[in-house]
Amino acid sequence: MDTSIQTDLETFRTETRAWLEENCPTSLRKPIKSAEDYFWGGRNPHYNSDDQKLWFERMRDRGWTAPTWPTQYGGGGLSTQENKVLLEEMAKLQCPTPLFSFGLSMLGPALLKFGNEEQKAQYLTEITHGKVWWCQGYSEPGAGSDLAGLQTRAEDQGDHFLVNGQKVWTSYADKSDMIFCLVRTNPDAKKHTGISFMLIDMKSEGVSTRPIKLISGKSVFCETFFDNVKVPKENLVGELNAGWSIAKYLLTHERSMIGGIGDVRNEKPLFQRAVEALGLENGRLSDPVLRTDIARWMIDQEGLMWTIERTTDESKAGQPIGAKSSFFKYYYTEQNKLKYELLMALEGMDALAWGEEYNDGKLARDFCRTKGNSIEGGTSEIQLNIISKRILGLPG
Ligand SMILES: Cc1cc2nc3c(=O)[nH]c(=O)nc-3n(C[C@H](O)[C@H](O)[C@H](O)COP(=O)(O)OP(=O)(O)OC[C@H]3O[C@@H](n4cnc5c(N)ncnc54)[C@H](O)[C@@H]3O)c2cc1C
Repeated sequence: MDTSIQTDLETFRTETRAWLEENCPTSLRKPIKSAEDYFWGGRNPHYNSDDQKLWFERMRDRGWTAPTWPTQYGGGGLSTQENKVLLEEMAKLQCPTPLFSFGLSMLGPALLKFGNEEQKAQYLTEITHGKVWWCQGYSEPGAGSDLAGLQTRAEDQGDHFLVNGQKVWTSYADKSDMIFCLVRTNPDAKKHTGISFMLIDMKSEGVSTRPIKLISGKSVFCETFFDNVKVPKENLVGELNAGWSIAKYLLTHERSMIGGIGDVRNEKPLFQRAVEALGLENGRLSDPVLRTDIARWMIDQEGLMWTIERTTDESKAGQPIGAKSSFFKYYYTEQNKLKYELLMALEGMDALAWGEEYNDGKLARDFCRTKGNSIEGGTSEIQLNIISKRILGLPG
């Protein structure tokens, strides 16, 4: 790398670290236990503490809720390298992400590429300022892996669209203000070509949600119903019936996010507790089977993290991640499942405990959550299909 860029980055690192030290409240610098620990934004924002509000506002004012987005939309205008430095320094100090939002991770990138200027100015700024809670309306009862088979219908009524249908597994629909949605606008066209990408206000007349209760007792999923919902024409993103390209582009971002792109975590301390509990013999973990499994996992993880780093560098040099996002989505989520299998095995019976003294069952809950990891954003089987077809070029 050019030495002047290197020096600039080192200066940026020093300044960033100092700013974070000064501005991130110490009460927030601890591991995130669950999704409820995040600030999600929205029209009726809920902060878990005054410090969380302060931290969000300070990061927002610096443009660091969306560090790489253009400053005109409230982003930070950082380069990918600067963003990586920021994430590394935040991880070192355990600074939480100031805003967790599907607007940031999914809709925003799609609007930056496909939205018109009015849509970018309005929605991107609302996202960076945490003003709107977005949810994702893709899956339907008959359209999950076969997403293009979706049936929710949007009919052109002259000055608006009339939407009817049902979505399912809509995470946080009951808390969201807006939904980015795939709808069928031409039922006569081949299935991929009759789909449009639309933004719908969840407070519109005719929108309703029904939470789906999970085995954990929580309900982040909902069924979402559209019953003669009027949607303004200006809420169509991109061309009519050309929504499939937007849907796919957004999915590459969702899969990159789930697949660990931008992740700078150091996983080594994870197994430390287990090592302490099981004890060492001649400097090695006493159980040979677990020792081998952990070593194998760590080697694979190291390889994955280097591959993520290389791909991030390639994308910085102008090579889009595209179908490679499926590789990361597949491997990262399978590794994540394996990691929790190992952690559960290491903890033995204690791993199943849910009481206060067991960190409120965090390990068991996280273990259960990893199972959904390889389903959300497209299942592992679907990612393998994409990898074989679009990366390896194998016949369909
Ligand atoms: C935690 C979580 C959060 C989610 N959040 C959202 C959300 O916010 N919004 C949203 O729209 N959706 C969301 N989903 C839904 C998710 O996108 C779907 O569950 C996923 O796409 C799979 O669809 P399905 O459940 O209908 O399973 P199906 O498509 O019915 O698949 C069932 C099984 O068949 C396999 N299968 C299907 N087709 C093939 C094939 N061609 N080749 C090989 N195997 C195949 C699958 O791999 C799977 O094992 C979420 C899911 C989870 C788990």
